[in-house]
Amino acid sequence: MYDVIVIGSGPAGLTAAIYTSRAKLKTLVIAGAGWGGQLMLTSEVENFPGFKEGILGSDLIDNMWRQAERFGAQMVFEDATAVDFSARPFEVRVRESVYEGRSVIIAAGASPKWLGLESEQRLRGRGVSICAVCDAAFFEDKRTVVVGGGDTAMEEALALSKFAKEVKVIHRRDKLRASKVLQERAFNEPKISFVWNSTVVEILGKDRVEGIRLQRVDSGAESEMECDAVFIAIGHKPNTDTFRGQIELDENGFVVSKGDTGTSVEGVFVAGEARDPRYKQAITAAGEGCKAALDAERYLKEED
Ligand code: NAP
Repeated sequence: MYDVIVIGSGPAGLTAAIYTSRAKLKTLVIAGAGWGGQLMLTSEVENFPGFKEGILGSDLIDNMWRQAERFGAQMVFEDATAVDFSARPFEVRVRESVYEGRSVIIAAGASPKWLGLESEQRLRGRGVSICAVCDAAFFEDKRTVVVGGGDTAMEEALALSKFAKEVKVIHRRDKLRASKVLQERAFNEPKISFVWNSTVVEILGKDRVEGIRLQRVDSGAESEMECDAVFIAIGHKPNTDTFRGQIELDENGFVVSKGDTGTSVEGVFVAGEARDPRYKQAITAAGEGCKAALDAERYLKEED
């Protein structure tokens, strides 16, 4: 029996685990098969306070994990497959094993969204990617496309520009959503150009990406463009399917929080992108992980 089961191992989950384990609460982190969350897909993190030269996303996660481990937190590198919050202790199932917890902190984060095209899934890993940091080097001197207009899209385009011959950013509006600093970097990179007011309606190619079919948002006119790779960077969806029916979710799947980190079930708390469609930063996730841990600690004291 654990005092706290943390589901998720990004900055929210690991910060929660640092706080609960340091408070001598027996803590288990269900880290997920692809542990570490979205920071593992980022290169340099320049805006996490305390690292004036920046830090690699994976190093930041590794440091957080070691810090939690130092205070006794345990970690399971598997996904939570089901939960039962209807009775106490709460149950979290991981394949054949069932873990029991007096409290749970949901910090399951979010995953990149896909366009929803058949061709996108068929050519995934054959030129279609969601991670330039992971895959850009495969496209040395190639023609690449990034879909999206936010910070992630600009980061992907900039990472790709180190390798590719050209990077075309396809955006559905005529203005970027990305922060000024990343916009300027992208505008100043000669290899990056923009295709405005357009969406990708098909990715072309039989066994590997050979091009895309574009559609103008205003006129509906379609055109084709040759390219060797397509990087999708259109935002994220919360990883909350496992909790459906167990706690209240909103219409987009985000956990509905009550009184800050509380949920519709007393003793189950939430932190980070599983509940936050707005800020979605590593530092805000870490801050929420801290708050959820303090709230869980208070709840357990009252239960004793
Ligand atoms: P985002 O800010 O939600 O941007 C998603 C982009 O994709 C938007 O431009 C959106 O268009 C477009 N889009 C969404 N659905 C689409 C669809 N079906 N087809 C075509 N385009 C679509 O997501 P994000 O860029 O992943 O960023 C998420 C959060 O992480 C943000 O808060 C961001 O600031 C943060 N972040 C920060 C950094 C950094 O500071 N270094 C790096 C990465 C991410 P519209 O603009 O028309 O909505």
